[in-house]
Amino acid sequence: MSKDDDARPASARLTVLSGPSGVGKDSVIELIRARSRWVRLSVSVTTRRKRDYEIDGTHYHFVSRAEFQRMVSAGDLLESAEFAGNLYGTPRAQVEGYLAQGIPVLLKIDIQGARQVRAAMPDAQLVFLAPPSVQELERRLTGRGTEDPEMIKRRLEHAHEELAAAKEFDEIVVNDSIERAADELVSLLGSPALR
Ligand code: 5GP
Repeated sequence: MSKDDDARPASARLTVLSGPSGVGKDSVIELIRARSRWVRLSVSVTTRRKRDYEIDGTHYHFVSRAEFQRMVSAGDLLESAEFAGNLYGTPRAQVEGYLAQGIPVLLKIDIQGARQVRAAMPDAQLVFLAPPSVQELERRLTGRGTEDPEMIKRRLEHAHEELAAAKEFDEIVVNDSIERAADELVSLLGSPALR
C-alpha cells in the first residue's frame, strides 16, 4: 500500500434508523449523542410546524413548502417523503461530507425514505426500532400530548403500516429500555474510519 493510500480515510457507514411514530426514536437518539462522540446525526428539513421543545437547526430545519420544493428540484435532498401531510427530507451535502471524512452518520427517517436510501446507497445499514408491543406503542402515541386527535389517528394508521415493513430491515432493535436500545445502536453504528 502506498503512503497516499494509507492517508486516505476508509469510507464510513451510513445507518438509517426508522420505526413507527411514538416508538421513542428521539429519546434513543438523545442517549446515543451522549454516549458516542463519533456519530453525526443528519438534520432533516421539514414543512411540519415546530414543536415547543424543538430548536430550528438542531432537531430540524423548518422550511416552507416552496423552499422544500426548490431543494427537491435542485437535487439537494438525498431522499424525501410525505408523512401525515408534511414533507421531510435529508440534505445530501451534509451526509456525503461526513461520510467522505470517514465519520459515521445516522439518519432518522421514515420507511419511504429508508427504501430510497437503500436504492441510492446499497451499503447503508437499515435499523428498525420496534416497540415492545403494539399496545405499548398506541399508549405512547396517545399520551404524548404534542398532536391533536386527527394527527394521532393518522400517525397510528401509519404506525401499523410501518410495523409491517420491519422485515425489510437489516437489524431490528426493540425499545424495551431506552438505555439498552441506545447501547445496541451505538455498537451497530461503529466507530469512524479515520486514522
Ligand atoms: P416527526 O414529525 O414526529 O418529527 O417525524 C415524523 C416521521 O418523519 C418520523 O417517522 C421521522 O422518522 C420521519 N422523518 C424525519 N425526518 C425525515 C426525513 O428527512 N426523511 C424522511 N423520509 N422521513 C423523515
